[in-house]
Amino acid sequence: MLKALDQQYVLPTYARRDISFVSGSSATLKDDKEKSYIDFTSGIGVVSVGHGNANVSKAICDQVSKITHSSNLYLIEPQAECARRIVKQSGYDMKCFFGNSGAEANEGAIKIARKYGEVDGTPKRYKIITLEHSFHGRTITTVKATGQESMHNYFGPFPDGFVYAKDMDEIEGLIDDHTVAVMIELVQGEGGVQPLEREKVKALSSMLKKRDVLLIVDEVQTGVYRTGEFLASNLYEIEPDIITLAKGLGGGVPIGVVMTSKKEVLGAGDHGSTFGGNYLSTAAANAVLDELESFKESGRLDEMFIYFEQALQGFYEPRRFLFTGSVGFGMMRGLRVKNAETLSAIIDNAHKEGVLVLKAGRNTLRFLPPLTITKDEIDEGFERLAQAVASL
Ligand SMILES: *Cc1c(COP(=O)(O)O)cnc(C)c1O
Repeated sequence: MLKALDQQYVLPTYARRDISFVSGSSATLKDDKEKSYIDFTSGIGVVSVGHGNANVSKAICDQVSKITHSSNLYLIEPQAECARRIVKQSGYDMKCFFGNSGAEANEGAIKIARKYGEVDGTPKRYKIITLEHSFHGRTITTVKATGQESMHNYFGPFPDGFVYAKDMDEIEGLIDDHTVAVMIELVQGEGGVQPLEREKVKALSSMLKKRDVLLIVDEVQTGVYRTGEFLASNLYEIEPDIITLAKGLGGGVPIGVVMTSKKEVLGAGDHGSTFGGNYLSTAAANAVLDELESFKESGRLDEMFIYFEQALQGFYEPRRFLFTGSVGFGMMRGLRVKNAETLSAIIDNAHKEGVLVLKAGRNTLRFLPPLTITKDEIDEGFERLAQAVASL
């Protein structure tokens, strides 16, 4: 019934599974047939504090029963508070702009960089270097920023000025008089859970500072404690000029942020969003930050990371005949599968056994569990996953 409705009225842009969830608690979901699933995906890195989080739900309900939206023509208390908290946790001297998604945050980052590169209103420097296998979003500009040729079919003409580096080593050689920024993910998420090398990132960061080329770090997936620190940039000990956040920040409520140390570049009228940073999304984000800050400070976040890592290795080690490597940090992890057919068989079987896992790149089994997943859920999830691969 639902499937027919979906097929009749919703554009077929997703290869959806015939599963519909109706409720959840922590990292456990229930579908409309009462079947339970352990969620190792958190809705692609979004439900960072778990499903049905009581404190976040209460904060959202309390907020929307008072005021949900006023427009950005007025001061918005939870927005200012959210910006303060994000800046404080980041440790960087920055200011924030609020949008509604990762792509929108990256659009903001690109606009800041482009305007920074203008002299007397003329685009002097506009080129932005990104990496192959990156992912920066689905709008026309962020699709073009994404270094995957397969995403550049149709939809053209695209905005000019994106240049792709094969790897970190190629970036410096691509910089010319028109280059204004380099945009990277510190752990490429969609591209296959591929962390960049820390020493190379640090060297890149200092080289770019010397040449006055901006460093944009897309932390849409890595941000908000996913890799262990508030930002992966903190973990890598770099000071980017522009950082974007989205997925895990709102606990399921759409929100995107671009933050920058170039506080004076955008002025009134240069950028905007109708919904961005409204009472609903920023109240939700503040409640998510409450949860995760105390989770981190109490040591429980690191404890869960270690537990998850051990469970993942316990699953991986005896099954080397299926996997060729283990990658990632914190709660952003992947297992490289020997081939793409085996990967899709694993994911199909996992759904049957009641555990949700993701694909990344061509052959990576990706894990993005809620940061607050319990030990029991981790154990149960890997037991189900072991069942799922038993016949392979
Ligand atoms: C998911 C993702 C995006 C796009 O975010 P949307 O909210 O889907 O627009 C951009 N960059 C990275 C690194 C992502 O993981």
